[in-house]
Amino acid sequence: MAKEYVNMRNLRFVLHEVFAAENFSKNPYYADYTKEVIDMTIDTAKKLGDDLFFPIYTEMDKKKPHLENGVVTVHDDVRKIMDAMGEGGWIAAPASAEEGGQQMPGTLYAAANFIFHAANTSAASYFGLTTGSSDLIRTFGSKELNETYVPHMDSGKWQGTMALTEPDAGSSLGDITTSAEPNADGTYTIKGQKIFISAGDYHSAENVVHLMLAKIKGGPVGVKGISLFVVPKYRPENGKLVNNDVISAGVFGKMGMKGCPILHLSMGEADNCKGWLVGEPHKGLSYMFKMMNGARISVGMMSTALCSAAYHASLEYCNERPQGRPVSNKDPLVPQSLIIEYADVKRMLLFQKAITEGCLSFVTQCAYYSDMEKISEGAEKEKYNLLLNLLTPIAKAYPSEMSVLSTSAAVQTLGGAGYCDDFPLEQYFRDTRINPIYEGTTGIQAMDLLGRKIPMKMGQGLMLYAAEINQTIAEAAGIESLKTHAENLAKAMQKLTEVTMKLMGLAQSQAPEVFLADATLFLENAGIVSIAWQWLKMGIVAQKAVGTANGDEKNFYEGKLAAMNYFFLYELPKSAALCERLLSDNRLTLEVKKEYIN
Ligand SMILES: Cc1cc2nc3c(=O)[nH]c(=O)nc-3n(C[C@H](O)[C@H](O)[C@H](O)COP(=O)(O)OP(=O)(O)OC[C@H]3O[C@@H](n4cnc5c(N)ncnc54)[C@H](O)[C@@H]3O)c2cc1C
Repeated sequence: MAKEYVNMRNLRFVLHEVFAAENFSKNPYYADYTKEVIDMTIDTAKKLGDDLFFPIYTEMDKKKPHLENGVVTVHDDVRKIMDAMGEGGWIAAPASAEEGGQQMPGTLYAAANFIFHAANTSAASYFGLTTGSSDLIRTFGSKELNETYVPHMDSGKWQGTMALTEPDAGSSLGDITTSAEPNADGTYTIKGQKIFISAGDYHSAENVVHLMLAKIKGGPVGVKGISLFVVPKYRPENGKLVNNDVISAGVFGKMGMKGCPILHLSMGEADNCKGWLVGEPHKGLSYMFKMMNGARISVGMMSTALCSAAYHASLEYCNERPQGRPVSNKDPLVPQSLIIEYADVKRMLLFQKAITEGCLSFVTQCAYYSDMEKISEGAEKEKYNLLLNLLTPIAKAYPSEMSVLSTSAAVQTLGGAGYCDDFPLEQYFRDTRINPIYEGTTGIQAMDLLGRKIPMKMGQGLMLYAAEINQTIAEAAGIESLKTHAENLAKAMQKLTEVTMKLMGLAQSQAPEVFLADATLFLENAGIVSIAWQWLKMGIVAQKAVGTANGDEKNFYEGKLAAMNYFFLYELPKSAALCERLLSDNRLTLEVKKEYIN
């Protein structure tokens, strides 16, 4: 087992030196979150990570959940972790004090979640899902629903889930068939099947509260007919909890995230499953979407967390593993070199560092916009809203796709040992593979970015994004050592704008399939540009600090500059090739007949 999974010095750098998160305390809503409180919060998260999450990371993978006689058994420590997260106020942390929360800035909550997920992403999923689902009830549910469910969920005793997916409706939620029939008492009778529901049931949860999408009989077809319900495993009745006819029909075997089960749930087999409408009828998907920004940014953060853990594990190995000798000195009498001495191994480590730290900064940027939106008014609020909306699909998809490559590079740095389960690398690689799939696949995020977010409000989001990047470029251009990177980022941004104009032109003149055909490449390019922007931002801070730093601090800032250089020299050039492809009029993927690839 590796010894470390996050770099706390780097987390402080991002929070304090790049985003000055302590400035949130100037706003009355976040007044408690001074620098000391921020540091104390992440130190507490790290201690929880060290004591509760990290020690059972591989054990949870090996002792995977199973279903027997209707009971889903998970690792015993899940209870301990949920209790600790409830007692520590972590589940309700983002909620207002009035609602029983901690009013924690999203920027800080994201940093704490980065630690928990790096320590043990399966274990962290249980409480993350509960936070998301209790937040839905809090925001859109009635007073009665709030009083009945939220306190139990916030305490960690009742598990929350998001129950959307069905056997024939994953990306296309408009096709769900789970039905809801109104009853005279104001409840609904629920009937249907849900699959892949994370933490959908387990032995040590006193109750499971599903935030479930279903269609009210007789309502509009498609997405306009989707409503949101609270469907508990046990429903409160006359002061007792009674069975609500939600059956755990199966636990799926899966590639990773084995510590957290995904359930096949069957509702209403005995016609006795009741649901409670959240908010208004037929608005279910819009409620889900309002929460989706947070959930998607969380997936970006979870992916980054796994990059971080894998990076640390591979780094540790490379510092200890002797193998071979440099090409310039093959003398067998000379002791073997540590593999960290070789350029190709350094390349793999720099790649991981550049992705981990670049994505951490980018996802934090999105959380920062979310906080700024919350505490701003008028035009400022609108600005942050547009930026957040534009960047959310990128923050979800790019770190998740890159986490697959970054954890794969971590496996590679260990050679054969990376493939074997004595080391956690193969687990990090398996665990992160879900991130580009759930909360909307990369393909769906890409269509959201290009088809909805770019054209939104006549392209205002893109203009604001360009303005933010240009501000960083202007600052970097005034620092001699960063001038070339600033110029290269400016060129990449110009090209991104050119591609966007061309695709928006196609959107006017051709079927939507044409301009959306390579949306995933468009998103990848936007991801590269966004991470380059973050690296330039970090580079400015590092360049200003490195001159007066000594010892470990000097190495820290030099390391920042090296990883920035890596991203600009090895990753940013990929943007040009993607743009060339996006500007081409060749329509291979649209036109190729399915018979040719069968
Ligand atoms: C470990 C795990 C945990 C999960 N947890 C939950 C959970 O807690 N709650 C929940 O509700 N769901 C959950 N899911 C389900 C997950 O959200 C879905 O698997 C995901 O949304 C994709 O849906 P799908 O599997 O039906 O794939 P599909 O929608 O069938 O997609 C298959 C492929 O086709 C592409 N595709 C689909 N439609 C289009 C289109 N119109 N245009 C272009 N390409 C398209 C997709 O991008 C993808 O590559 C989980 C899944 C897993 C594996």
